[in-house]
Amino acid sequence: MARIVMKFGGTSVADIDHIRRAACHVVREVEDGHQVAVIVSAMAGRTNELVDLTRRAAAMHDAREYDAIVASGEQVTAGLMAIALQDRGISARSFAGWQVPILTDNVHGAARITGIDPKVLNERLENNQVCIITGFQGVSPLGRITTLGRGGSDTSAVAVAAAINADRCDIYTDVDGVYTADPRVVPKAKRLSFVSFEEMLEMASLGAKVLMARSVEVAMAQKVRLAVRSTFDDPASAQVGPDNKPGVPGTLVCDEDEIMEKQFVSGITLAKSEAKITLRDVMDEPGVAAEVFGALADEHIVVDMIVQNISDDGKLTDITFTVPDAEYDKAISTLNRAGDRFTCRSISGSRGGAKISVIGVGMRSHAGIAAMMFRALAEKGINIQLITTSEIKTSVLIDDEYAELAVRALHTYYGLDADDT
Ligand code: ADP
Ligand code: ASP
Ligand code: MG
Repeated sequence: MARIVMKFGGTSVADIDHIRRAACHVVREVEDGHQVAVIVSAMAGRTNELVDLTRRAAAMHDAREYDAIVASGEQVTAGLMAIALQDRGISARSFAGWQVPILTDNVHGAARITGIDPKVLNERLENNQVCIITGFQGVSPLGRITTLGRGGSDTSAVAVAAAINADRCDIYTDVDGVYTADPRVVPKAKRLSFVSFEEMLEMASLGAKVLMARSVEVAMAQKVRLAVRSTFDDPASAQVGPDNKPGVPGTLVCDEDEIMEKQFVSGITLAKSEAKITLRDVMDEPGVAAEVFGALADEHIVVDMIVQNISDDGKLTDITFTVPDAEYDKAISTLNRAGDRFTCRSISGSRGGAKISVIGVGMRSHAGIAAMMFRALAEKGINIQLITTSEIKTSVLIDDEYAELAVRALHTYYGLDADDT
């Protein structure tokens, strides 16, 4: 007997038929004698509709009410899933975040889970009741409903798995695993049987929306065994298994040491909607960057790629960085207002950038992976505006008009296309 967390994303619970199908996966695990906690997302498209309603009510609205509204989608699905299971003769009960409770901080719209009390869930699971828990939501120290940010049900699932000491956390979605690139952008993308936590974290942070980055962070820290598999698999088929053992297709996210054949490059990601801002002739002296980025941090603006040039004269320099498109106007006005904190000749920028990243633990030991990236883009005549690197990734900012072309070209260049095997 194992304890399993099963998470069903929006497509998996898009309508009653889908919910019934998802319930079949749950029934299989229950009939195999396992204790099961289920995390559900809102029905496909529902959260977008709810977000839109809040905007139509007022463009600038109270974040606490935003959360009260957008969290409601998950509540509907949890109830429907419980009914679908009860209809199959399974003991099941739905729980909203506050009923568990899933405790969070009070950053509405982007809350972090601070703790989960496993008592109620443990009692129910031990009595062989399936617990259906709303994803994406929790409760703040002030007792108000919070949401975890878009895609947050993945994080709910992993956090619940850690809290109840689950043996596995299976993420059911509309693809049968994590691919070398978004299969919607690169039809020749290949499924990875394994991906390391570190690579998955980079991929998720850099645009692979198949898992929310925070969920991978939590899984890595809490050592949760995480698998991504398709909701459209035959519900009779059991768990994701390594390729050398019988099992359904899927991807295991695990420690690097567990992966026998390490990929040189594991994935290519794409994140659109990046805006670039340049400050010209900033004083080249200690403390200036702290003031520039401090001003942005005070307004909770998340800055991503940062490049500062070495000045010729040692007195003045230029700083370029990126922010999400949606934060561009706010960032420009924040910098203009922060004139007493630093001086510069001009503040300029543009929207419409795309960040393309190549990720792989192979970068630690192989020289030239970044150079290959630049060559592949040059051959397509694509100009690179910014470059940043970390131990296992290289990212470039390019014009978003060329984003898909760039991802496909890189995928082929690194020999990742499915036909190449
Ligand atoms: P869910 O509603 O189940 O949470 P999401 O839409 O959030 O599903 O995530 C699944 C989607 O992630 C897929 O349909 C796919 O287009 C996209 N995706 C992006 N990058 C990748 C990748 N590297 N591997 C698999 N899917 C990816
Ligand atoms: N329903 C939420 C969203 O669409 C959370 C999730 O599905 O993970 O962002
Ligand atoms: Mg998702």
